[in-house]
Amino acid sequence: MTVTLHSAPHVLPICTPPVPDGAVAVEAGRIVAVGPRTELRSAYPEAAEQRWPGVLTPGLINAHTHLNYTHCAGFHDNGKPFATWIQDFPPVIAATTPEGWRASAAEGVRRMLTTGTTAAADVVTGAGALGAQRDAGLAGISYLEAVLQDTRTWAGVRDGWYASLDAAAGVVGISPHTPYTLDTPVLAELGAAARDRGLRLHPHAAETVHEVAFTVTGSGAFADWMRATGLDFSLLGCGSGRTPVAELDAAGLLGPDSHVAHGVHVSAADRALLRDRGTVVALCPRSNERLESGEAPVAAYRAEGNVVAVGTDSLASSPSLDLLADVAALWALAVRQGSPAEGLDRWLVEAATVGGARALGRDDVGVLRPGARADLAVFAVTGEPYAALVHEGEGSCVGTVVAGQIVHLG
Ligand SMILES: [Zn+2]
Repeated sequence: MTVTLHSAPHVLPICTPPVPDGAVAVEAGRIVAVGPRTELRSAYPEAAEQRWPGVLTPGLINAHTHLNYTHCAGFHDNGKPFATWIQDFPPVIAATTPEGWRASAAEGVRRMLTTGTTAAADVVTGAGALGAQRDAGLAGISYLEAVLQDTRTWAGVRDGWYASLDAAAGVVGISPHTPYTLDTPVLAELGAAARDRGLRLHPHAAETVHEVAFTVTGSGAFADWMRATGLDFSLLGCGSGRTPVAELDAAGLLGPDSHVAHGVHVSAADRALLRDRGTVVALCPRSNERLESGEAPVAAYRAEGNVVAVGTDSLASSPSLDLLADVAALWALAVRQGSPAEGLDRWLVEAATVGGARALGRDDVGVLRPGARADLAVFAVTGEPYAALVHEGEGSCVGTVVAGQIVHLG
C-alpha cells in the first residue's frame, strides 16, 4: 500500500495539542502517523503529498440532522413556529416515495461533505434513506425513526418497521422520536429492541416548552395536536409529573448507548441525570432559534461537565448543514450566558469532533491519531486555529477527505 501525506500550516488532532506545519500520513483509508511535516517527510520519503492551506482537522461530526428532509428546505422560511411547523410533516411523509427519500438524503450528504462534515447522527423517517451515509462511505449512523404512533397504531406497523430496520445494511440505530409523539409503552419497547440488537438510540429531548407541558401535565399545544390526530397516549390529559429527560429515562432510553438532540428546556437535575447515564447532548442552536424553541443552557452544560456535541438539525429548520455555523452560534450563546471565553473555542471544536464521536459511540473518528479513520476536513482560515474555526470557519471548507479519498475540493 502507498502512503499519502496531508499537510497544512495547522493540524488539529483534537486528542493531542495542535501541530504547527503539521502532517497526517494516510494508508489504506486509515491514519498511520500524525506529527510535524518535516518528521513525516523523513519517515515516508516516497509518499505523495497533498499540501493544504489553513487548518486541517478530523472530519466534523453532525450529531443531529435529518438528511432525508433536505427536500423540505422550504419549511425553513415559512415563518411557522414549532407547534404548527411540525404539523406540516405528516403530509410530506405520506407523499414521499422510497426513491424520493433516498434522493433527498443523498443531496443532504453531498451538501454536508462540502462543509467538512464526514459523519452524522442522521434520523431517517423514510426507510429508503437508510443507506445514504453507507453509500457515500461515511462512518455515521442512520437511525430509523418511529413517530406518531400510539400502542394500537404501532401494532399495525411494527412488523414492517422492524423488517426495514433489520434489512438495512450499514450502520443503523433507532430513533424513538419523542415522548409526545410515541405512547409510553412504544418508547419502552423501542429501547428494549435497540438493546436486543446492540444498536444505539437517538431520541429528541426537551426541545420546546410544549414538550415539557405534555410530559409533566399532559396538556398544551402538543396534547391538542395529538388529540386532533386521534392518537391515544397514556400521558394525554394527566402527564407523568416528569420532565422530558426524566420521562425518557423512565422509558429506558438514556444510557451511554444513547444520545439526545436539543436538550433546551432542562433543569439542573435533568443535566445531572444525563451525566449520570453517560448520555451526550447534541445542541442545535440555529434550529432552536428559527423555531423559537428557546436557548439551550450551554454555559451550564459546560460548567457542570456534560459531554455535548453539535447538530445542525434538518434543512427544514436550519439555513445550512454547515456545522461550524452552529459552533459560532453556540459560542455567542455561551458568552451571553456568562461562560468564560477562555478555553471556549477549544471546547466547542471538541464538541463538533470528538463530542460527536462520543455521540456515535466511536473512538476512531473525530480525532487524528494512528489507527483512526482518515476522515479529514480542511478550512482556509488563519490565526489561532481553534478561534479561527469558531469565528471564521463557516463557509471556509476547502477540502474533505473520507477514508483517505478526497471527496470535496473547494
Ligand atoms: Zn430533529
